[in-house]
Amino acid sequence: MMGTARPPLLFLDVDGPLIPFGAAPQQYPTYETHHQSPGNPLLARINPEHGRRLMGLPCELVWATTWMTDANECICPRIGLPQLAVVTWPEPSDLDEQDARDGMHWKTRALVDWAAGRPFAWVDDEITDVDRAWVSAHHSRQALLYRVDPRQGLTDADYAALNEWLHRTYGAPSQTAS
Ligand SMILES: [Mg+2]
Repeated sequence: MMGTARPPLLFLDVDGPLIPFGAAPQQYPTYETHHQSPGNPLLARINPEHGRRLMGLPCELVWATTWMTDANECICPRIGLPQLAVVTWPEPSDLDEQDARDGMHWKTRALVDWAAGRPFAWVDDEITDVDRAWVSAHHSRQALLYRVDPRQGLTDADYAALNEWLHRTYGAPSQTAS
């Protein structure tokens, strides 16, 4: 039952979810692709299957990463994703200093702004309950802050959980924020 509503957004981090890190380097397989971009050797850790699996989720994918537009340039061609929208991060402000003291992630405020009231999932390896609490207090629609283990990156179980939430959210009647 997918109404005429737009699908939920999915804000996607790169380091952690797509590029696993933290375990011994030799534990990570590397993948050759037709698109060999020079530069960061960690790109070879991205399993090209992520492209197909991300495209299969009922959502609108948006890069939410310090890679910024490099994600479109270096990652999308490697794994078969189209060019995606990119969240641009605001200049640091006094608010960020307070947020950091509160233990809130520096992306959280910007993502809620970017979503502008649309349901969203956020996939990142640095999410904590502080971010979940802030989002539930400042975002009127559904939000899933989904933490990925950076040593593994996105797993089958992660995709299953995201798929289930996105389907449920997309199919839900949109409620009016009160
Ligand atoms: Mg990360």
